Amino acid sequence: MIGIYLHIPFCAAICNYCNFNRGLFDGPLKTRYVQALVAEIRAAAEPGTAADTIFFGGGTPSLLEPGDVAALIRACRDAFAVTPDAEVTLEANPETVDEARLAGFRDAGITRLSYGVQSFRDEELTRLGRLHTADTARRALDAARAAGFDNVSLDLMMWLPGQSVDAWLSSVDALIACGPEHASLYLLEIYPNAPLRDEMARGGWSVAPDEDAAAMYLEAMARLDAAGYAQYEISNVARPGRQSRHNLKYWQDGAWAGFGCGAHSTRGDRRWRNVSGTGDYVARLERGETVRVDEAARPREERAGEAIFMGLRLTDGVDLRVLRDAYGLDVWNDYGTELAPFVEAGLLVHRPGERLALTRDGMLVANEIMMVFIGRSVR
Ligand code: SF4
Repeated sequence: MIGIYLHIPFCAAICNYCNFNRGLFDGPLKTRYVQALVAEIRAAAEPGTAADTIFFGGGTPSLLEPGDVAALIRACRDAFAVTPDAEVTLEANPETVDEARLAGFRDAGITRLSYGVQSFRDEELTRLGRLHTADTARRALDAARAAGFDNVSLDLMMWLPGQSVDAWLSSVDALIACGPEHASLYLLEIYPNAPLRDEMARGGWSVAPDEDAAAMYLEAMARLDAAGYAQYEISNVARPGRQSRHNLKYWQDGAWAGFGCGAHSTRGDRRWRNVSGTGDYVARLERGETVRVDEAARPREERAGEAIFMGLRLTDGVDLRVLRDAYGLDVWNDYGTELAPFVEAGLLVHRPGERLALTRDGMLVANEIMMVFIGRSVR
């Protein structure tokens, strides 16, 4: 089963920390973009290939009209063997939806919503340049329920400029009170030229010290545990059976086909990405040209390294037997010496069934542990 990713690069405003492939909404360009996307999907048709997830990511996919979403899902169903119970996710910004639009998305075939809430504190949302307030986010969730959605995820961002541990935890408590089925907690990474850096300097805001970031993460996860959410990935928790099936494909060495500007695809030993500019993408498809660039083989060593790197993000960790069978990799034989100190420190553990996993403390230093596999090529 593959996953299908559709990139929608339009936003109503550009947030001051954002480094994604996106641009300001432009109605005529959006219309041409949707047509181009349908054309790209049709040209890649593989009726014999089953797909059990479709994910509209962005950008702000909820700026599409329900009719656009319906046309894109239809194109996916015509081109691939999309299973009847497929998980079909739409990323949405709270200020872009109301009950009628959400009902339209649901009729179009969306089964899951992922709201970019980021914070339940209005002063933090203003600092980030977001267009919604905490109340808008709550109303968006109510509207989703009224429209019949029973699978909703909320994103929060931690370690924001000027954010204290208590302020962060008040957002986590507010999220729990909303009762979504899934939540993602991301650490804000401020890239070098982000406008937010200038605003931080002007406003005299700084981020909390590293030890506070660790406390933010651990206490948030403890509160989510207590509220009945199970962590299944470094940044993700879910009610039972509500993990993101689409994102699991990235972490479980799966396969996916990406469509739209800048989208990546990984299919077994091949990988490619599309041109990233929205205008370039549309123009190429209108001329009947390919949008694929950087198509390359994935050597076995690279695939094995990625399977470990991504798999260790999961609380279940990686299955060492699968790595051995698929890639001929014996993790203990090849890396045992480097991994031993992490096991002794309680950061890395064996789980039943020959699985290797990070503990929650290990997740705090995941990059350091994963460097073991990146520092030298996987044999
Ligand atoms: S809404 Fe999302 S994709 Fe758009 S600018 Fe803000 S963070 Fe970036």
